Amino acid sequence: MQTFARRLGTVFTRFGFSETASRRALYAIMNSLHAYNAAPTFFIPAVVLGRHPALIAEIAQDGAEIGVHGYVHNDYRSLNAQQQHKQTQQAISVFQDTRIAYHGFRNPYLGWTEESLHVFTDLGFAYESNEAVFHDIIDFDRLALQLKHSYEKSLVLFQAIPCNTYALRPHFEGSLLRIPTSIPDDEMLFDRLRITDPEEVGYLWCRVMQRVYDRGGLYTLNLHPERGVLCKQALDILLSYACKLPLPIWITRLGDVAHWWKERSKFRLSITPHTSEHWLVEARCTARATLLARNLTIEGEIMMPWSDVDFCVRSRRFSVQATHCPCIALSTQTPQEVVDFLQEQGYPGVRCSPEEAQTFALYLDLPAGLGITREEQRQRRCELVERIEQLAAPLLHFGCWPDRNNAALAVSGDIDSVTVQDFFLRIIEVFLSR
Ligand SMILES: [Zn+2]
Repeated sequence: MQTFARRLGTVFTRFGFSETASRRALYAIMNSLHAYNAAPTFFIPAVVLGRHPALIAEIAQDGAEIGVHGYVHNDYRSLNAQQQHKQTQQAISVFQDTRIAYHGFRNPYLGWTEESLHVFTDLGFAYESNEAVFHDIIDFDRLALQLKHSYEKSLVLFQAIPCNTYALRPHFEGSLLRIPTSIPDDEMLFDRLRITDPEEVGYLWCRVMQRVYDRGGLYTLNLHPERGVLCKQALDILLSYACKLPLPIWITRLGDVAHWWKERSKFRLSITPHTSEHWLVEARCTARATLLARNLTIEGEIMMPWSDVDFCVRSRRFSVQATHCPCIALSTQTPQEVVDFLQEQGYPGVRCSPEEAQTFALYLDLPAGLGITREEQRQRRCELVERIEQLAAPLLHFGCWPDRNNAALAVSGDIDSVTVQDFFLRIIEVFLSR
């Protein structure tokens, strides 16, 4: 109740009865990103879009990507498959009527279910961004007990996944790309933990950025536009930090990540034995591909230093000299899903017999595949990626990001309401949608 009373106080300061305050907040985020030739991704409930089509068309025109945030602002975990399908279809209709292009879906409260994934796939979404990777950047011991409880409640609500069990990269489930998002979001920092000093918020975001950078992953920052003005300084601190890291970072929109991941999924490396310790390699990929190599020599090419372990390769057809065949070998009893996952993550894999195993960079014999439960699958995907990334043997692979970027940063936010009226209508709309 106390939280609600405090929330009510902020409603009138952050929103107005007209679109003015929200427009200012949206452009605060957009302008920070424009300085870096980048733009944000905003998710909006369809009913809110329906009331503010001109404003949303304007920010889309100025580069923001718009995604679907439900028909109304409700929790899909309280809906069955049929209701989820119907409401998602209703949301699509509003987007079509208002001529706003969309590619992705993010659930209110990040409340996704297994049924949601089927619905998004059936209705042709390119991606969803709901898996909430939790970065434990807060010094918990310093917190008052009441704040701790409130914070833990949001971790449960958002189905938080510890960041050491998630590879921090997107992955495909069928045709649907799952792009991880991250918590704590601005609401958890500002309202639950009462961390409101922009410099402190900026510092915490930089810590997450560094961690993601070290793993070559994607940082999807969650920043509600209603705090766009409050967070502007923190966002500027993060962007400036990201651009000062030794290797470049791709500051991008989630829809562009989905587009890139699809393009990248078609890349192939063919590695053919030539003479002893020599292989002929052909990379079939687009010009944006980041082709990486470690612990091997490419004949006739000056190797371009990249990360601590990898070199960047410019050629697409070349001859390699190495002690091992520079790709991953898999036993015949390892299920195809593992081969597909490795392929999708940029690591070429071939089948081989145990006798040939030691001639390859790495031999994997995983008869149980990626596991049955979601938790197992997440853990195994993460372990596989980490194991390969730490490999000291010769290896050729595709980097995650285009144009030799080492990591990616996407600034995203949910436009839950534009005006004070939207905020109160939301309660009625959720009630009526049941
Ligand atoms: Zn929301």
